[in-house]
Amino acid sequence: DLWTSKGHVRFSDVEFAYAGDRVILPTFDLDIPAGQTVALVGSTGAGKSTLAKLVSRFYDPSTGEVSLDGIDLRSLHPKDLRRAIVMVTQEAYLFSGTVADNIAIGKPDASFDEITAAARAVGAHEFIEGLPNGYETDVNKRGGRVSAGQRQLISFARAFLADPAVLILDEATASLDIPSERLVQNALQTLLADRTAIIIAHRLSTVAIADRVLVMEHGRIVEDGTPADL
Ligand code: ATP
Ligand code: MG
Repeated sequence: DLWTSKGHVRFSDVEFAYAGDRVILPTFDLDIPAGQTVALVGSTGAGKSTLAKLVSRFYDPSTGEVSLDGIDLRSLHPKDLRRAIVMVTQEAYLFSGTVADNIAIGKPDASFDEITAAARAVGAHEFIEGLPNGYETDVNKRGGRVSAGQRQLISFARAFLADPAVLILDEATASLDIPSERLVQNALQTLLADRTAIIIAHRLSTVAIADRVLVMEHGRIVEDGTPADL
């Protein structure tokens, strides 16, 4: 009875301008097969976040359509859309509340076992257990007692639990120490398995694990290839 997306994302004749402003993304087509991991790279202002926001329907295209499994996003029930497509931005890594609340935010009916299973899957369980109150430790938006890498792992556990067909990730720019970097990288690979992913990538290690790399410049995709091509 519940609709389940396969995760096939397609931009057809899409053009985008913010309300009353100049065209940011001139007309383009882009087909992302189900299951593909796409890294989006390009200099600041190139249009990476804008493109990503069209997939999460934060904005609708000015012309053309963005579709999921052949269905115009505008025709999808908001509930189906929210279940199928999850966007993880750097600003939304944490909310005020406990670690458990933060992991379960997209799935409030999740059991404690499901929460810990998601944390284990992305390698976050150990450090969470080590916090003063474990999963019940309060964190604030800025992280409070958790590091930048730990914040990312918590947000990855949240996304893993939500289990969307399409994951959009704006990768953090914060530099991590080498052990955290390795943890985050391993977590990312677990998180990307069996779903479509569009990652605004800031790390070379992330670009390296992508199936496809899109280079953007001034709102256009100027390169489209594998990491080896670049
Ligand atoms: P960064 O790497 O700095 O995050 P980006 O590639 O994500 O850059 P976008 O944020 O997509 O770039 O911005 C693309 C263009 O759209 C920029 O010229 C930016 O100034 C403009 N822009 C972004 N958000 C808005 C907005 N809300 N209203 C008007 N223009 C915007
Ligand atoms: Mg951006």
